[in-house]
Amino acid sequence: MKNLSKTEFITHTSSHDDGALIDMRTSLPLGPPQEAADSLTSWAEGVKKAPNPVYSRLYNPTVAAFEEALAKVEGTDSAVAFASGMAAITAVLLAAKSSGSHVVAVRPLYGGTDFLLASGLLGLDVTFTRAEELAKAIRPETGLVIVETPANPTLELIDIEQIRKRIGDLPMMVDSTFATPILQNPAAFGATMVVHSATKYIGGHSDVLGGVVATNEEWAQKLRQIRIATGGVLHPEAAYLLRRGLATLPLRVEAAQASAITLANRLREHQAVAKVYFPGLKECDPQGLVGRQMRGPGAMVSFEVQGLKEAQALMSHMQLITPAVSLGSTDSLIQHPASLTHQLVGDEGRKEGGVGPGLLRLSVGLEDVEDLWRDLDQGLAQL
Ligand SMILES: *Cc1c(COP(=O)(O)O)cnc(C)c1O
Repeated sequence: MKNLSKTEFITHTSSHDDGALIDMRTSLPLGPPQEAADSLTSWAEGVKKAPNPVYSRLYNPTVAAFEEALAKVEGTDSAVAFASGMAAITAVLLAAKSSGSHVVAVRPLYGGTDFLLASGLLGLDVTFTRAEELAKAIRPETGLVIVETPANPTLELIDIEQIRKRIGDLPMMVDSTFATPILQNPAAFGATMVVHSATKYIGGHSDVLGGVVATNEEWAQKLRQIRIATGGVLHPEAAYLLRRGLATLPLRVEAAQASAITLANRLREHQAVAKVYFPGLKECDPQGLVGRQMRGPGAMVSFEVQGLKEAQALMSHMQLITPAVSLGSTDSLIQHPASLTHQLVGDEGRKEGGVGPGLLRLSVGLEDVEDLWRDLDQGLAQL
């Protein structure tokens, strides 16, 4: 596994001239008429850089600085940022229409992604499957394979290299939000496009919405074309915060992960807990992907209590941990996938994704680990 440079993408000012500025201008002076006209043509083709920015739906330097830093940490040619993770995934789906009308989606997936694919809103033909069954779902008109690892909310790990072997040279999108670029770089294992909901760990403070796709320049051009045409752009202030978030990402991930390891081990020993899902536990990583595909198990822990009543009671007993959706923030959050994030997935999808009524998902934050344990322990004692 390639070792990540821990400093190259952290420096705030050296990698991009505009990295420390928030450029809020929507419209820019056109300058020489032919140059502006040519630039407009180039932007519409999806180029990375043209002489004149013209209009901020086409190019924004603060957004470009975030993209450059993200591409560096993912080890890809390019990155294309969007207004949210879902805007990024939508752009990937639209871009993939050029290579085929059929999408194969490996469950379990983030509830929003599952819903978008199942809803028919984008007019795509979608087959849901499991990693083991993937080969059977591929058709001649398949244009994209979608995978999420670690998957939401059961933290199931999928072997990206294995998927690549099964699908030949088909385009593959990997949603790597839970791993962050610090713990996993899917492009190195054969992913064509790596998606992050930057709202989560990259922003890291629950105060910014964003999404990004790290990919090769060929796909980046298609994605920029779609971004220009559909307008799902990342706001420059958001780009600034995400760029700043990258600088502390390695430290935040490392600290939250250390606490998650402790909590997962203690939860596993607790009599009120039926099962713990955490990639750092041997039984949850039978393929040994932590250490091979991932640099560490991450900071998301899911666990099962007896049933729906107990799961809801535990959430209401929390004093420090906030009952809330989302993840990857400074503060620890707990939520109930069956009634919240995976409500729209439906009974069958939940079953396929292993989302039971007693399952809770914990996003471990940066609080003191003993404070976190005390909170979980007092809550579990009341069940
Ligand atoms: C949150 C999330 C998304 C969607 O991102 P938004 O920024 O909320 O649009 C996609 N995938 C995963 C794994 C997520 O956790």
